Amino acid sequence: MISKNAYLNVVCGLALTIFCSVVNAHPEVRSIKTQEKVIALTFDDGPTIPYTNEILAILDKHHVKATFFVMGIHAKSNIPILKKMVEGGHEIGNHSMYHDKENKKSTQALIKELPEVDKIIRQSGYKGEIMFRSPFGLTSDTLRTALTQINKKNFLFDFLSQDWENPPAQIIVDRVVSHAKPGHIIVLHDGGKGRSPTVEATGLIIENLKSKGYKFVTASELLTYGPAKH
Ligand SMILES: [Zn+2]
Repeated sequence: MISKNAYLNVVCGLALTIFCSVVNAHPEVRSIKTQEKVIALTFDDGPTIPYTNEILAILDKHHVKATFFVMGIHAKSNIPILKKMVEGGHEIGNHSMYHDKENKKSTQALIKELPEVDKIIRQSGYKGEIMFRSPFGLTSDTLRTALTQINKKNFLFDFLSQDWENPPAQIIVDRVVSHAKPGHIIVLHDGGKGRSPTVEATGLIIENLKSKGYKFVTASELLTYGPAKH
């Protein structure tokens, strides 16, 4: 005969398991539903010299914390830059090892690769949560299954400014600012060649959105403001 409390514990545990598996079935986050003027500023494909260092200096100047979704192969050869991110209070995310189309890989291959990138990130002394961002924003059931098994969110986006094509800084600023809304995720790129327009745009975007009352938060902080939109 089990006690009423023990019975309730079992029922609650079961309900929690079902709830968690439903939540984990949607590892993708494209924005957060909130009325508060909070925005996550994120950078992909780095770290690279000199652009990541230049961006870190701008963030420091404006007292803004961002999230860097690094490629494993770049992170490996730039651990001192990752250490600067940690010192600056920024968040670090996993953007795969080589920027492959991860949606085409098997669950098994992903479960092997992605923790290897985490291991490189941890060499910097970073202690926070490491979310994933799929290269090219591509998703698939195999990727979802892998992320669920290694308990990772896919921190995506619902708009891209296409800064990687290197338009003039003001064009990047106008595109980003016109799409900004509470709970939004801004994606810029600190990897690749000739990222100067993105570096210049970063400071202008921060000034513009701060003047409109927006507060910049990291990826994991953004998740605390409301439910995720998949
Ligand atoms: Zn990328």
